[in-house]
Amino acid sequence: MIKSYEDIKREYEYIRQGDYLRYEDKKNEIYGKNPKLKELDLSIIKLYTKIGMARIENKPIDELEKQLENIQLERNTYLKEHNIIDDYKELKYVCDKCKDTGYVDGHKCSCFVQKEIELFDNISHFKNYIKDDNFDNLDMSFYNQSGLEYNGTTYKQLMETLIKKFKSEVEGMSKSPFSLLLIGPTGTGKTFLARCMGAEALKKNKSVLYVNVNEYLNSLKPDYEGEPLKYYAVACDLFILDDLGTERITDYTNTEINYIIDKRLNDKKSTIITTNLMPDQIESNYLSSTYSRLVNAYDNEYLYGDDLRRLKNVNI
Ligand SMILES: [Zn+2]
Repeated sequence: MIKSYEDIKREYEYIRQGDYLRYEDKKNEIYGKNPKLKELDLSIIKLYTKIGMARIENKPIDELEKQLENIQLERNTYLKEHNIIDDYKELKYVCDKCKDTGYVDGHKCSCFVQKEIELFDNISHFKNYIKDDNFDNLDMSFYNQSGLEYNGTTYKQLMETLIKKFKSEVEGMSKSPFSLLLIGPTGTGKTFLARCMGAEALKKNKSVLYVNVNEYLNSLKPDYEGEPLKYYAVACDLFILDDLGTERITDYTNTEINYIIDKRLNDKKSTIITTNLMPDQIESNYLSSTYSRLVNAYDNEYLYGDDLRRLKNVNI
């Protein structure tokens, strides 16, 4: 099971070993049945070496080249007569795009991204959550609170607009990454919506790391036995940090929270943070740079449920 980037690296090593063993097997099988072909291939290699040496020593090569041509002709005839496809001397890759290296022109190959998605899922078990929490399972009646209205718009209508926006943000995240702060009291569906967006991102082959803030911070403790999640939180395409504000706040946790928020903004990577803290509470609990980024660089969206009083106090 892929549980770290080291595992992905090892898996590519195994794949490449497999490529080589398959190539050796195939070649040996063909040579076993066709010793003449092996002899011809060896002669060709020897002639190439001789021609190379002759070039270095400035000796005539015409005769050697003639011999090479004749053997190549003989080989071609042999291959044709014995119905052998002339590719047994080439390595065959599982992924032709990256030749089983995981990278094409310095960028991750699609096969690497698939392994990365598997890795992040093995870390956060996100796929378990999105069996139920996805936009296909969205029940709009959840938002149809009785009498809830703001400037003639029902809460359900507000949510419809928001959800449309969320979907299009995920749709466009490759070109324009988004940073979203979902604010609201418990029970308003913040986590559900964040997971739905994560599910959409997965459909688009994006790697998603979904963690609760406590789980994240615990993983950074020196005595934590599993993998610290910091590196994965930096590397994933979409990072979802759930329930900011439920952790026991210390200077250390604040520094870590500030780091990951700052890092992902600088790296231009998409992030969703859910919290039940209002901006003034964020300001009093976190570093001023965290507050400033969450309020200014993040898109703040409020989910109120049936708390109409608060809905009316905030300009949505
Ligand atoms: Zn590939």
